[in-house]
Amino acid sequence: MSTTISELVTLPDGTALPRLGQGTWSIGDHASSRAEEIAALRLGVELGMNLIDTAEMYGEGRSEELVGEALRGIRDQVFLVSKVYPHNAAGDKLIRSCEASLKRLGTDHLDLYLLHWRGKIPLEETVAGMEALVASGLIARWGVSNLDTADMQELLRIPGGNRCAVNQVLYHLGSRGIEHELLPWLKGHKIPVMAYSPLAQAGKLRKGLTENETVRQIAESHGVTPLQILLAWSIHEGDVLAIPKAATREHVAQNAAAGKLVLTADELWQLDDAFPQPSWKVPLDMI
Ligand code: NDP
Repeated sequence: MSTTISELVTLPDGTALPRLGQGTWSIGDHASSRAEEIAALRLGVELGMNLIDTAEMYGEGRSEELVGEALRGIRDQVFLVSKVYPHNAAGDKLIRSCEASLKRLGTDHLDLYLLHWRGKIPLEETVAGMEALVASGLIARWGVSNLDTADMQELLRIPGGNRCAVNQVLYHLGSRGIEHELLPWLKGHKIPVMAYSPLAQAGKLRKGLTENETVRQIAESHGVTPLQILLAWSIHEGDVLAIPKAATREHVAQNAAAGKLVLTADELWQLDDAFPQPSWKVPLDMI
């Protein structure tokens, strides 16, 4: 199967989302790049990547502040996602974290609030806290991040746990571990994957992907960059949406264009051959 940005991923409650959103880790860290980062996010929304992912962790609130600025006048066009630190993920701390995120984001509600990763607080307490936030209208729905299959199974056994809307996990052509067990399990429970670091961040690992001969040849035949092939690949599966982070309008435009690429069955097969999925269970890859 191969899909494009104009096709949608459906949450368990029926909400339809674009296959490409925008990540914001490390955005807002430098005053000199602020204006371009805001322009880039707004362009991304115009181009259909109208889901924005942030977290209280990112720059200890700087990312949320920048997203808030970028959202002025267009908040209602965007599906807004933020994440809570594990140590804040229950009780009064959860309420205070959520309220602080809302203040920085300049909004009265989040469309989705995620547990950033599993910490020491029992999942029961996080589910109860998230459900209370839904009841109070501060968030529309909640989900999780970095939870492997056993954690997801445990979550769904908790009362209310089945209202988990997504699992945000690391997924790119060079990290396909979820395909063996977690991805099929989530599909079976109709919980979409939000793929983070779909461009494999920057550095050595990404180089191994973008300089690969198969990736380069496929990119050349489409007249696009190898990174655009990586991004198109990350959303080729049903029930996966990806959140690339880009700090410039040029990168955002390229990413949106990648969302329209359709990889052929033969190209997908070649990519499988070059970067096979593991045939055994591997622990969930995380950053
Ligand atoms: P990505 O895989 O999205 O890669 C981001 C890097 O790619 C940046 O250096 C960016 O450069 C560059 N880039 C983006 N578009 C292009 C392009 N078209 N051409 C060339 N370079 C490009 O990494 P992230 O780790 O940021 O992941 C995406 C998002 O996922 C995060 O921002 C965050 O929102 C989320 N995330 C969640 C985690 C979790 O634990 N839940 C963990 C990690 C990420 P530039 O900025 O200069 O445009």
